[in-house]
Amino acid sequence: MSHTLLIRGADVILPTGPARCNILIRDGIIVDTDAAATTTADEVIDADGLVLMPGVVDPHVHFRDPGLTHKEDLFTASMACAAGGVTSFLEMPNTIPNAISQARILEKLELGRLKSIVNYGFYIGATPDNIDELKHAHRTPGIKIFIGSSTGDLLVDDQEALERIFGQTTLPICAHCEDETTVRANRARIGAENGGNWRVHDHSRVLDVRAAMITTERATALSEKYRHPFHVLHVSTAAELEILRRPSTVVTSEICPHHLFFNTDDYDRLGSLIQMNPSIKSREDNEGLWAGLLDGTITLVATDHAPHTLAEKAAPYPKSPSGLPSVENSLALMLNEVNQGRFTLTQLAHWMSDAPARVWNMLGKGRIAAGFDADLVLVDMNLERTIENERQFTKVKWSPWAGTTLKGWPVRTLVRGTTVYQDGQVNTGHRGHEIQYDLALGGYYGTSNGGAGRS
Ligand SMILES: [Zn+2]
Repeated sequence: MSHTLLIRGADVILPTGPARCNILIRDGIIVDTDAAATTTADEVIDADGLVLMPGVVDPHVHFRDPGLTHKEDLFTASMACAAGGVTSFLEMPNTIPNAISQARILEKLELGRLKSIVNYGFYIGATPDNIDELKHAHRTPGIKIFIGSSTGDLLVDDQEALERIFGQTTLPICAHCEDETTVRANRARIGAENGGNWRVHDHSRVLDVRAAMITTERATALSEKYRHPFHVLHVSTAAELEILRRPSTVVTSEICPHHLFFNTDDYDRLGSLIQMNPSIKSREDNEGLWAGLLDGTITLVATDHAPHTLAEKAAPYPKSPSGLPSVENSLALMLNEVNQGRFTLTQLAHWMSDAPARVWNMLGKGRIAAGFDADLVLVDMNLERTIENERQFTKVKWSPWAGTTLKGWPVRTLVRGTTVYQDGQVNTGHRGHEIQYDLALGGYYGTSNGGAGRS
């Protein structure tokens, strides 16, 4: 039996910009973005005074399931998503065991089906010798390569192996770009200087600007050589923007909130809580990266949500692990900037919803338009709230932004027309669906005139 939902009175962020209009949804799909206010529906949401945005699509998260579920799992992480306005996520393969085969992808999809409140997808990880798995992988958005900053199976640094992956596979590729040789040499040199008395500040000198530059240059060159869609994960330096400013129809890139909002001055206050790979860089990098986002050089915003427990983080550097939780605060952090006048809600919807859906060839995601899924978030641009550790839904119960007051918060999140979060409460009984991809869409540049609805 068909179910209809009318959301009326909100300022709606359409792909073309904001409009006061009424959205009619049938069976979880948007069918009309200009319905009459008097339209009859089984359910009506009166949203006067609120903004309706497409749900956030976060294409870069680490949800630790399976294998590291003392830090996070797909249930707790998807609660955090729902609370943060995130309706779809793509999760990275460095779970235990690593997701490096079709069989492992299917296992993770089953975990998603059982545990995830929002929509889910899982990357397949590249190793030096799993090319056959990468060639035949399906029900996955793409291939993740750690070109640096990983240990064991997932590190692929060898040029021949990289050429094989870019040359012989068809799925889009994304990579962590930090040159392992440079990082090791930095570590040896700085370790000799400090006689083994490390401080966390050294992390940004070990994983330095040059390490990021070298590998971003190397990987984008491979992408251009093989004309293979390639996404640079978590750009952390203003210097990399020179590479990303070259005209391309295959290379896209992303920025994470911690690289916009934190810099090396913050180590004194936050210590290893902001120890990240790639490392946090300088205040000048913050400014350069903001400029690169605003001028369109950087394609999208993703979190790289990567929780560790506070006990793990308390180990002295370099024993402390890299990574921080952020999926439930990313939208609010950016809404606060909209309130400061730095950019518009339309730009934000592009960076956090439409662009990631297009980069990863998602069907029916990222836009408020007829034929698209009713994955939506209602936002109160006047609500002020302080981030508190105790109120976090992530299993690790902390945020590097604890104590920060932001203006502009998600207040209600819908996945295919079903409310999964409202006013502090998560609908824990709901389950999202497996995200679907269509390579024929041609990625971000192939969909420049619009995303892909379900017509
Ligand atoms: Zn990551």
